[in-house]
Amino acid sequence: MALEKPQWRELFSEVVTSGLCTGCAACVVACPHDVLDYDANGGAYKPFHLDIDGGREDCTHGVKGCTMCTRACPRFRNWESEIDQHRFARERTDEEVFGIGDVLLARSTDPRMVENGQDGGFVSTLLIHALENDLIDAALVSGLEGDGSTWRAEPRVVRTRDEVLDTAKSRYTYSANLLAYPRAVEFGAERIALVGMGCMASAPGAMQTRKAGKIARRLSLTIGLLCSKTFDDSIFEELFEKDYGLRRADIVKMNIKGVFQIWTRDGAYHEVPLKEAHAFTREGCTTCPDFAAEHADLSAGGIGAFNDWTLVIVRTDSGREMMRALKDAGLIETRPGDDDPGAVALLHRLAQVSRKRWPESAAPGPRRIPVRGS
Ligand SMILES: Cc1cc2nc3c(=O)[nH]c(=O)nc-3n(C[C@H](O)[C@H](O)[C@H](O)COP(=O)(O)OP(=O)(O)OC[C@H]3O[C@@H](n4cnc5c(N)ncnc54)[C@H](O)[C@@H]3O)c2cc1C
Ligand code: SF4
Ligand code: SF4
Repeated sequence: MALEKPQWRELFSEVVTSGLCTGCAACVVACPHDVLDYDANGGAYKPFHLDIDGGREDCTHGVKGCTMCTRACPRFRNWESEIDQHRFARERTDEEVFGIGDVLLARSTDPRMVENGQDGGFVSTLLIHALENDLIDAALVSGLEGDGSTWRAEPRVVRTRDEVLDTAKSRYTYSANLLAYPRAVEFGAERIALVGMGCMASAPGAMQTRKAGKIARRLSLTIGLLCSKTFDDSIFEELFEKDYGLRRADIVKMNIKGVFQIWTRDGAYHEVPLKEAHAFTREGCTTCPDFAAEHADLSAGGIGAFNDWTLVIVRTDSGREMMRALKDAGLIETRPGDDDPGAVALLHRLAQVSRKRWPESAAPGPRRIPVRGS
């Protein structure tokens, strides 16, 4: 029997149309024949195949043996254990519900970086250090279109301190940062950092373990963001404006700490209960089992008792080296995760909640770890 070579046809039926697709865009940027495109309109956030080349459901290059899209996809078949094995040389234990790694708290030693960042300004500090010390050539992040007043997130390439600072803080709508990869390559970048939530942060590991060519090599550092969900863009008009009178153009910062926290241009602070926001959950998040960006080199989040600190999970040797370099350069201060046991307990709980979303009908993956209460 011929060896199976899973291609777009399998990806389409097993991931894109089965409800597992997060819209991370890894398949789109890995496709060497440019026959995949990405639909970011109307909250779709899904890849699609150009009809000219095999139709919506099949691919003529796939029929001839190209398997690149399934190699890149971080939701294809046994993705979780494959990537665990590749990144950590073992699978996680039942206790490692938020993945393999050590928790600590970190923040920039520069108060302006903390002020400019979402939490402790840790991610921006790291990116600037890596760019200015020739550890990476570029990073794929998320910016806001135009002057920012529409709050529409867009994938961006950053290569300078100012570009990093301009793209700091969190947007809670989706930004498939991997879509900025071709632009980074146009700039000649060979060592590219990816910033993204769990869905995107598993893509480099999937590509590396399944040998997806140059892109797997170039994505050399992954900074994950803790994430329960993202929201449809319609949340701005249909919830924030309609029910709370908050126009998107007047919003200057948002955060989620048990509630949606919203700061407006006039200096006022507002809260919107999260339960009112749930109806606007982006479809691609509804089966996502990865709260803690579990295949990143370093994961960053904002849970915990200490405002203005970033909770960091250090996962790989690259992550450990980066932390050492940032501390040696006096750019960050850290404290042990044990300083905030509540945050670590919440991390466990939120990771468990997300793992329950993985459908029992899919490859066992995240469900093979017993989930309490399921
Ligand atoms: C959609 C989303 C949901 C999150 N949910 C949680 C959560 O439930 N619990 C928790 O503890 N933490 C969550 N976080 C992480 C948290 O908001 C901070 O990003 C994290 O603590 C790092 O803070 P910082 O000050 O170190 O980062 P900063 O220095 O502010 O850098 C943030 C980086 O994130 C990038 N970014 C911003 N928005 C997006 C986006 N939509 N998509 C991709 N990249 C983006 C920026 O471009 C920048 O590079 C979430 C983040 C996002 C984007
Ligand atoms: S999860 Fe990502 S790589 Fe997989 S099909 Fe969806 S967009 Fe493509
Ligand atoms: S919940 Fe977060 S990590 Fe999961 S698919 Fe949605 S955006 Fe990605």
